[in-house]
Amino acid sequence: MDKRKVVIVGASHGGHESAIELLDKYDDVDVTVYEAADFISFMSCGMQLYLEDKVTHRDDVRNFKAEDIERRGGHIYANHLVTDIDPDKHTVTVKDLETDTSKDVHYDKLILSSGVKPQTLPVPGNDLGNIYLMRGRDWAIQLKDAANDPAIKNVAIIGAGYIGTEASEVFAKAGKHVTLMDMIDHPLETYLNQKFTHILEPIFEEHMDLKMGAKILGFEGDKTVTKVKTDNGDVDADLVVIAAGVKPATAWLKDVIDLDERGFIKTDAYLRTNHEDIMAIGDAIKPLSIPANQKMPIALATTARREAQYIVNNIFDKKPAYPFKGVVGASALSFFDYKFATAGLNEFSAKKLGIDHAESYYEDSMRPAYVPSTNNPEVYVSLTFNQLTHQILGGAVLSKYDITTQGNVLALAISHKMTLEDLAEQDFFFQPGFDRQWSLLNLAAQHALGRARF
Ligand SMILES: Cc1cc2nc3c(=O)[nH]c(=O)nc-3n(C[C@H](O)[C@H](O)[C@H](O)COP(=O)(O)OP(=O)(O)OC[C@H]3O[C@@H](n4cnc5c(N)ncnc54)[C@H](O)[C@@H]3O)c2cc1C
Repeated sequence: MDKRKVVIVGASHGGHESAIELLDKYDDVDVTVYEAADFISFMSCGMQLYLEDKVTHRDDVRNFKAEDIERRGGHIYANHLVTDIDPDKHTVTVKDLETDTSKDVHYDKLILSSGVKPQTLPVPGNDLGNIYLMRGRDWAIQLKDAANDPAIKNVAIIGAGYIGTEASEVFAKAGKHVTLMDMIDHPLETYLNQKFTHILEPIFEEHMDLKMGAKILGFEGDKTVTKVKTDNGDVDADLVVIAAGVKPATAWLKDVIDLDERGFIKTDAYLRTNHEDIMAIGDAIKPLSIPANQKMPIALATTARREAQYIVNNIFDKKPAYPFKGVVGASALSFFDYKFATAGLNEFSAKKLGIDHAESYYEDSMRPAYVPSTNNPEVYVSLTFNQLTHQILGGAVLSKYDITTQGNVLALAISHKMTLEDLAEQDFFFQPGFDRQWSLLNLAAQHALGRARF
């Protein structure tokens, strides 16, 4: 019997997870992955570590090697761009970018994990040299060269989200004069509640200039950029790094696959597109957010991998037994001495989605008060919850000490739709070398409920 043929577009997190899960689960499936880039498979999540010289070698900053798929019996082709789909014939058109030749390839099932592209800014001067983006291996190499280039003194980072924050730390640590710019009022405001951004803002100011509430009007320079023009004054720049959001890489799909107004691939509850045999995962779709109970962009590797696993488990079912259950959206970041983790919704996202919510902020020392402050770091927790039901919708933890795994505890609570009462009473360990008689998240939930401070 001929093997059933699954074609995967894109060899990043979603494509990788799909391929290994398929090869692990089924013996009678022929798996082929097509990747447009020449390198398989750069991991942008590891870019900051690479730029700060904390990895073994730049070619190691990857999800997997082609051999890893081939060893398991799959096929994978770099430098192969999928240019078209014919859903009636069940074929994709694949262009070999080295030979500039195209061929049609049959599929029984097609998985799209073609991801997103970083946004450029449609302003005058955006074609000048030294205006960089922060995604993928080619940009990573150029950013590293720039960080090591003594001729580059002034670096303007546009976008104060988590990627712009990573970039700002890299260039500040490389000894550059950094200006971090954004239209929002406080760095990281779209990720963290205000109390947290207020703690972090002085740390930004210690290491760089901030230009918040600034709209970018254009770039000036002769061949390479020398200035960023904004409605709130100009900034000198030998290098500009744009980290101002992403756009789904789906223009090539528009005549075949239903896309929403922003270009995200529309999927049903089973992550199928408008064609039953074509599924889509990863940054190019909007997954169900468990706390929001609606679809929204959650552009994380963790999301892509969970979607891939779900797809593979159900790929040959006429109707999968259950819909994709959704994701929470959890992430962590360090910024100089501070480390934080967030899960689910926050003030900004809940407000934007029009979701009824309230906020609570809790600060404490990590260990009992008799432990001197030299060994008793300050810890901060924010919780976002539904005012009527007390369902926990989101939360974040922050400290100079690494308490980011508490973010995963919050993710679990959000995923299981726990309430403040559940979290306030949840049995966690106590050992004074690690925490208080009540654990930090117990205390934060008790505080949110207005109970007397322990
Ligand atoms: C700097 C940075 C740091 C990050 N850090 C984290 C982190 O710490 N944790 C986390 O969870 N997430 C992180 N992310 C997000 C994470 O990288 C993405 O969510 C994840 O890569 C999405 O995977 P994907 O499979 O949807 O697509 P992508 O990673 O966008 O990859 C899509 C792939 O498809 C290929 N492709 C596109 N179109 C075609 C075509 N027509 N034919 C063939 N190939 C095609 C592209 O070349 C690309 O390789 C980070 C992202 C960046 C940029």
